[in-house]
Amino acid sequence: MEPIRNILRHKKATVKFYEAACTKIDYEKKIIYAQDDSDIKGDSMETQIPFDMLVVGVGAENATFGIPGVREHACFLKEVGDAQRIRKQIMDCVETATFKDQSPEEIKRLLHMVVVGGGPTGVEFAGELQDFFQEDLLKWVPQIKDDFHVTLVEALPNVLPMFSKQLIEYTESSFKEEHIEIRTKTMVKNVTDKYIEAEINKPDGTKYLEKIPYGLLVWATGNALRPVVKDLMSQIPAQAKARRGLEVNEYLVVNGTENIWAVGDCAVANYAPTAQVAAQEGAFLARLFNTMAKTDAFEAELKDLSAKQATANPDDRKVILAEITERQKQLRRVKQIGPFQYSHQGSLAYIGAEKAVADVSWFSGNIASGGTMTYLFWKSAYLSMCFSSKLSSISFKMNLQHLLTRTFSHPNSQEPRPGCLRLGQGQVLWPRRLPRVGSRPNPTDSSKSNTEMVHDESRMGVVNEEEKSKKVYTVSVT
Ligand code: NAD
Repeated sequence: MEPIRNILRHKKATVKFYEAACTKIDYEKKIIYAQDDSDIKGDSMETQIPFDMLVVGVGAENATFGIPGVREHACFLKEVGDAQRIRKQIMDCVETATFKDQSPEEIKRLLHMVVVGGGPTGVEFAGELQDFFQEDLLKWVPQIKDDFHVTLVEALPNVLPMFSKQLIEYTESSFKEEHIEIRTKTMVKNVTDKYIEAEINKPDGTKYLEKIPYGLLVWATGNALRPVVKDLMSQIPAQAKARRGLEVNEYLVVNGTENIWAVGDCAVANYAPTAQVAAQEGAFLARLFNTMAKTDAFEAELKDLSAKQATANPDDRKVILAEITERQKQLRRVKQIGPFQYSHQGSLAYIGAEKAVADVSWFSGNIASGGTMTYLFWKSAYLSMCFSSKLSSISFKMNLQHLLTRTFSHPNSQEPRPGCLRLGQGQVLWPRRLPRVGSRPNPTDSSKSNTEMVHDESRMGVVNEEEKSKKVYTVSVT
C-alpha cells in the first residue's frame, strides 16, 4: 500500500491531510464532521472542517440485504483489514481442522470455504483462494488435501452476469477443472456461525432450503450506500428520488448543489461502480479544477490589465490591449472543457490458476478472451494502474520474479527445464517451432532453449493427455 503522505509530498500545492472518518456532511452550513477512527486517540478526537467546494468519494459499503447473521459471521472484501481477517481465519480453520481428535464431519466443515456472490469480486476471490490452497497451503499442511473445498454461491442462474456468454461458460468450466464448486440459483437467506441456510431453485421450479456448513464465509454480494452518503442525500431535495447514490450531472456536480461533486461508487452517473469509472472520473475532476483555477487567474489578470489600460498613455494602451486580447483567447480556450465522458476499456477478471477473462473494447467491436495470456494482460493492466513508479517497480519485480520462477521449470515438478515457459497448473508455452498439441517435446533437447512466447492460446503446447481436451480457448469478436 502506498502511504498517501508520500503521494502528497510531491505535490506543488499545499494539501492538508487528516486521517479520519467523515461522520456527517452539513450541506447548509458547509461543514464536514470528522472523527479519529484509529486505535490511538489523542485529546482531540472529533473536529469540524469548513468547505467551499467538496468532492465526495467515500465509495460504498457491503450489501447484506438485511440477511440475518451476515454482519456477525461473514468476512467482507472491502478494506485492507478485511483481507487480514480472512487470511487469519483461513489459517485458524486449517489449524483447528488438524487439531487432535477432530471428527471427519467437523474437518470437512472447517475446511469448507464458502464465497457468497458470483460477481467479479466473488469469482476473483474464489479463484485466488483455490490458488492459495494449491500453491501454499497444500505444501504446508498436506493432510488437508482431500478436505479443503471452495464453493461459490450465487442466487442467479450464472456467475459474472456482466460478461459475455462464452466467458461465463469458460469461467464455469475452468472452476470445474480447479475443483471450485459453483452453486447457482442458490440464494442465502440466513447465516449462523457454522452454516448458511440457502433457498435452492430446482429445475422443475420448486424450491427447498438447505443448510450448508462452512469454516470460512466470505460475503461478496455487491455495494450498498454508506450512512454518511444517505444522510447527505436526505438534506438535498433534488436527491429525494435517488436510491443508489448521489445523482450527479455530466460535470459530476451533485444534482441540486453547486459546490459538491461526487465520484466513484457513491456517485450515480449511469456507469457501473467500477474502479475504471472512478479513475476516469477522478482524472476528469482534476482537469476541471485545474481549469477553474486557471480561469480565476486569467480573470484576475484581465481585471488588472483593464485597470492599467484606463490610466496608460496611448502607446502603452496598444501593448496592454494586445495582452488583453491574448488573455481573452486563452480564457476562451481554457473554458472549453467538455462534460465527463466515460471511455470503456473493457471488463477484466482473474479466475484463478493464472487465467483471466476479458471483454475488451476493440475499435467499434468487442473481443472476448480467456486463459493464461489474458491473465498476463490482466496483470500488466493492474501493473500500469499502480500510483507511483516505486510501487510499479516493486510490483514489476514481483511479477518478473514470479514469471522467472515459473519459466524454465518443469510443469509437474520444480525441476528447471530449458526452453519452455511454465504458466501454472500444468500449462506450458513451448517454443513456437516445437511440435504442438499432443506431441510432447523432448525435454532433454538442448536446442529448445530459445523460448518465444506465443501470443495465441490456441497454439499453447499441451503437456499431458488430460490437458489435451482443454485449456484451449478461442478469441471471438462480437
Ligand atoms: P455484484 O453486484 O457484481 O455481484 C453480487 C452477486 O451477488 C450478484 O450476482 C447477486 O446475484 C449475488 N447475490 C446477492 N445476494 C445474494 C444472496 N443472498 N445469495 C446468493 N447470491 C447473492 O458485486 P461485486 O462482485 O462485489 O461487484 C461490485 C461492482 O464492482 C460491480 O460493478 C463490479 O463490476 C465491480 N468489480 C469489478 C471487478 C473487475 O472488473 N475485475 C472486480 C470486482 C468488482
